[in-house]
Order: sequence, then structure tokens, then C-alpha cells
Amino acid sequence: MITFYVILFGLLIGSFLNVVIYRFPRGESIAFPPSHCPKCDHKIKPWENIPILSFLFLRGKCSACKTPISLRYPLVEALTSLIFYATYLKFGLTWDLPVFALFGALLIAIAFIDIDHMIIPDSMIIIGLIPGFYLWISRDGQMLTPQLIGLVGLGVIFWAIRYFGEKAFKKEAMGFGDVKFAAMAGWVLGWDVGIVSMFLAFLSATLLFTILIPIGIISRKQEVPFGPFICVGIWLGLMWGREIINWYLNTFMVV
Ligand SMILES: [Zn+2]
Repeated sequence: MITFYVILFGLLIGSFLNVVIYRFPRGESIAFPPSHCPKCDHKIKPWENIPILSFLFLRGKCSACKTPISLRYPLVEALTSLIFYATYLKFGLTWDLPVFALFGALLIAIAFIDIDHMIIPDSMIIIGLIPGFYLWISRDGQMLTPQLIGLVGLGVIFWAIRYFGEKAFKKEAMGFGDVKFAAMAGWVLGWDVGIVSMFLAFLSATLLFTILIPIGIISRKQEVPFGPFICVGIWLGLMWGREIINWYLNTFMVV
């Protein structure tokens, strides 16, 4: 029964994220006006606004003008509920669950806004610091030192990648938003899991490029935002970072 509510809540938050991803970077209000078709202004009725289900019975088209609705909307909803469910499996019914489920939702919003607009809004990075303060308090300050080292350390590492990347390639290799975002990750994850998650970010980017460039979906010259990969890395680190570190130490540091 709890599983059902977790997934349902994930779908509803996912539906809300679609609104945030579209309106927030455009400086529009999240609450007003109510959702409408961007093409014909048809006001979305409540029954047309049910996560995933509405997309299916509308067959992916606006009910008034038949303009196709992006497949991304149900995908964001499904992804959010999946992340909520995984967070529930990891943390159980604790305060960690809402904190890190909503943190996962924030990562989804940041990833898609960066894909669409090549920016990571400062306000979202500031909201992303909240789970770090939660950890500081809920773990009686045990995490504070690794968190502070993570904040400064990852910030400096990414600043260096940006600085020397620009010297080497004579153009911006990494946005300053990515530097601030990496520092935020260090604050939330601590320096050790933070480093693992940034490694996973670079690994996922490398994997995706080795698949997508040969089949021509993206070109070698195309500018691709790095933020979404940082999001993937942070989330994987949050879920399995500690396990990855233990596995690595047990496998390669045999005593
Ligand atoms: Zn329409």
C-alpha cells in the first residue's frame, strides 16, 4: 500500500515538474495561468491532466487541435515515480525518503532545463543545498567535515577543469553553472561519494557519446550540456555511492 502511494506521489510530482521545466526558465508563474495547449490555448481539463493515463487516452494529441503532445511529458512522470520508488527502497519510511525523493525530482528539473536552455538556474542550486543542511543536522554533524571538504573540493576541481579546458580548447569547455552545481553535489554527498558521483557523470557522458556519435544522433561539434550527466552521477552516487566505494576498496585494496 505504501508502495502505491509512493509511486502515485511520484507521478503527481512528475506532472508538476513538467510545468516547472517549461515555465521556470521562461520566467512564467508556476501556478497561473492554468495549463493550456501552447498551440491553440485549449484549457487542459482535469481529466486531461492525469499523469501518463491522459497521454494514453488522448493518444498523445491535444483534444481540441490534435497537435502532438511531446512524449517527454509522460516520460518525466514515469521517471519521477521510478526515482521515488527507488528512494523508498533505499531509505524506507524515514525522513530521508521525502528529502531525497524531492532532491531527485529537483535533479530531473535541472537536467531537462539544462538540455532545453543550456543553463542551471542559481535558485535551483540553492534549493539543492537543503538536503546537505538536513544531513548535517540529522546525522549529528558527523557528515559536516566531509560535506565541507566536498563543497570546496569539487568546486575547485570543476573550476580547474573549466579554467584549463578553456585554455586548451580556446573556448568554454564547461559552464560556470556546472562548477557551482558540482560544489553543491559535494556539500550534499560529502567529498568521497561526491568524487564517485562526478566519476559516474564523466563515465555516463563518455558512454552516451560513444553510442550516439557513431549513429549520428549528435554530432562531434554539437555543444552538449554537461549538467544532465552531473544529475545522473549525483543520483547514482546518492543511491549506491557508498556501496561502490566499499566494493572498490575490497577489490583493489586487499590487505
Ligand atoms: Zn491544442
